Amino acid sequence: MAATLFTNARIVDGTAPEPAEPVSVVVEGGTIREVGKAVTSAKARTVDLKGRTLMPGLIDAHVHVVAGVADLGANARLPDSLVTARSFVIMREMLLRGFTTVRDVGGADFGLKQATEEGHFPTPRLVISGKALSQTGGHADFRGRYDDRPSVIERHRLGALGRICDGVPDVRRAAREELKGGADFIKIMANGGCASPTDPIHFLGYSVSELEAIVEEARMAGTYVSAHVYTDEAIRRCVEAGVHSLEHCNLIQPETARLAATKGAVAVPTLVTYDKLVSDGPKLGFPPDSVAKVDVVRSAGMDSLRIMQKAGLAMAYGSDLLGEMHRYQSEEFVIRGRALPAQQVIASATFIAARLLKLEGKIGTVAPGAHADLVVVDGDPLQDLSLLTRQGRHMPLIMKGGDFIKRTSLN
Ligand SMILES: [Zn+2]
Repeated sequence: MAATLFTNARIVDGTAPEPAEPVSVVVEGGTIREVGKAVTSAKARTVDLKGRTLMPGLIDAHVHVVAGVADLGANARLPDSLVTARSFVIMREMLLRGFTTVRDVGGADFGLKQATEEGHFPTPRLVISGKALSQTGGHADFRGRYDDRPSVIERHRLGALGRICDGVPDVRRAAREELKGGADFIKIMANGGCASPTDPIHFLGYSVSELEAIVEEARMAGTYVSAHVYTDEAIRRCVEAGVHSLEHCNLIQPETARLAATKGAVAVPTLVTYDKLVSDGPKLGFPPDSVAKVDVVRSAGMDSLRIMQKAGLAMAYGSDLLGEMHRYQSEEFVIRGRALPAQQVIASATFIAARLLKLEGKIGTVAPGAHADLVVVDGDPLQDLSLLTRQGRHMPLIMKGGDFIKRTSLN
């Protein structure tokens, strides 16, 4: 792997409201070695960025790389071979939007993660939960009212986002199985959801004793629990049970947001997916009952950003898109920019997400010792977040682990 010296790079990483003064960055062996005004490297090829923006590779903390179609019940019935092939296409496109790391919160297994590490195909780094845990009739139960076949207990299809488990012994075993299978953290469905057929938004998922048991299992493994939650009550009981990563949070209220902030929890809003489920969902096979549910959480979304910001609750970047809607992954930047300062929106996809993924200092930063995951942007995203959208159009260079994934000539 050749060494690379970037010169005249203005770093934008979410830690400051303005781009930094131009510096040079030395990349060797897949890692950032040095950053500074006077640094140089004799053996490196030089890339003069001429004052362009240099960002750490972006991080999306809420994706489902196995969700090739929006109808998740149908996706779960597809053969693993087809789901695998489609997930590599989904991951390649994420990488070409500048996302060099993604956290999969339901679906991807360790085999998929290992394949990304073997480097057969261009993909982001993958952090996984394995299958999300759902109670019977919860957000990962796609059997519908009249389907009373027993839930799968032995073999889970790759296209399934979750698995069903009920009762303290069963949820403990499921959590242990996911951890044994290589899950980096545990995902649970602790509230009703849009994509599933029999759980209205207000349904609470799992009893307090089940929640506490799952949190204990995650802690025993040195990791944390992430929960799918919309309503204030669902969020509160998860926070009280020790859940660390709070997905969506559309209906959160100030007092719960403050409690979550005090406990050091991180919220992962995913507003873009509700926009697109309403506009594109029906024609892409998202069931009509599900579209009706989306409106409840969509309208509250922008308020939730302001509530969480005011409470000092850290927010990481999330998109949560399904099927063909994956192409809107970067629109979350623009949506959040309507309620929050651009610096905070960028921070959600850099150091805040890195901390949530337990990869602080390794990703989400342009600093010595970090992976050389880098994105060059034409223009200043702190002034215009839409520069991060349009499938990487404004990103002439994308590097992951010191390798150029995309390299167009700089004029
Ligand atoms: Zn999700």
